[in-house]
Amino acid sequence: MPSCPEPRRVSILGATGSIGTSTLDLIIDGGDRYRVEAVTARTKVRELAAIARATGAAYAAIADESLLGVLRHELADTATRVGAGPGAVEEAARMDADWVMAAIVGAAGLAPTLAAIRQGSVVALANKEALVCAGELMIEEARQSGCVLLPADSEHNAIFQVFDAGRIDAIEKIWLTASGGPFRTATRDRMATATPEEAVRHPNWSMGRKISVDSATMMNKALEIIEASHLFPVGEERVGVIVHPESIVHGLVTYHDGSVLAGLAAPDMRTPIAHTLAWPDRIEAPSRRLDLATTGQLTFEMPDEERFPALGLARIAIRSGGSAPVVLNAANEVAVAAFLDRQIGFLDIVSVVEDTLTCVETVATDDIETVIMADGEARRRAEEVILKRSERTS
Ligand code: NAD
Ligand code: MG
Repeated sequence: MPSCPEPRRVSILGATGSIGTSTLDLIIDGGDRYRVEAVTARTKVRELAAIARATGAAYAAIADESLLGVLRHELADTATRVGAGPGAVEEAARMDADWVMAAIVGAAGLAPTLAAIRQGSVVALANKEALVCAGELMIEEARQSGCVLLPADSEHNAIFQVFDAGRIDAIEKIWLTASGGPFRTATRDRMATATPEEAVRHPNWSMGRKISVDSATMMNKALEIIEASHLFPVGEERVGVIVHPESIVHGLVTYHDGSVLAGLAAPDMRTPIAHTLAWPDRIEAPSRRLDLATTGQLTFEMPDEERFPALGLARIAIRSGGSAPVVLNAANEVAVAAFLDRQIGFLDIVSVVEDTLTCVETVATDDIETVIMADGEARRRAEEVILKRSERTS
């Protein structure tokens, strides 16, 4: 693919988040090489306005409609056009751009991510939940629009860089590494009393609250197994997980001849994002460099699926097919929010997901409407599961 003419037109969906901020670092570092088309956020209206002002973005959209007046006021003296509500976020995603970062957290990113893919350029995908819920649909839409979907998630990005897509039959297995999160060595009894503050304190990465809790339950790796099975068509049984507490090796591909190619980097999301931003070229990124001599040791162990049952649930959801991954994801989002709100305990998160998967019937999800309906239904059922538990314990 020829290099894109400069300045490259870029949009950032979820600009105020952890991935959004790392992306902005690269864009600002690149100066005149980029022109920012659209930036979006949910509620952090002043931060969004500051980002729009700093980048000279053509359009700023805030998902929370009640904040339109504030956004308009904050950007009154600029040329940035403003919008509010989910429709405005989708409009931002549809704007002509050469590269879009899809970094909204959760299933809320489904419609905007799909809109970006339909717009047809390069979409860097951080919003793994969109792929978990509607992977086949996203990939088919990308094929139709000619959009190049590049994984920004560090493990998938590493695998992408060493995955020989022309010789899939020579691939024995792909491996996602997992840090193991803050409770890697904790007993279930210890986890039972874990607080939100403890759960979001990740040993290696600084991330949004939802993905930090997902890392602690290992639901993040569960979602990533599903994500990988869409991005790399080798079959779920060939997607392995290995715990690697140092988070230096991010992904590996084992070939039939015994060769193993691995992607390594310091744990800094600006590296995989820079890879997607420059692809198929490379840019100099201000991210942390890997110094193996200082690191000294890299360690690996198999995940303990009894202490971390989320991994097994992901495989059940993939094998069940249809809406099962949508249900897994929706129930997890509801349960994580309830945990952060101190309504349920840490171990309840995955157990609510399991109960919801058991009680919701799997349906076919052929289009975005049926995915969104299945997501809504699963959320209602997960809330019922949580309510029943609290009635039982009160
Ligand atoms: P975050 O919570 O820091 O940021 C989320 C962004 O999404 C914010 O800009 C927020 O305003 C926006 N948003 C939230 N709800 C929205 C809604 N309803 N409508 C519109 N916008 C909404 O999250 P994050 O850690 O940056 O993660 C973003 C995505 O990237 C997630 O899917 C996560 O799994 C994935 N990811 C993150 C990391 C990381 O290091 N943070 C690594 C790999 C993948
Ligand atoms: Mg990851």
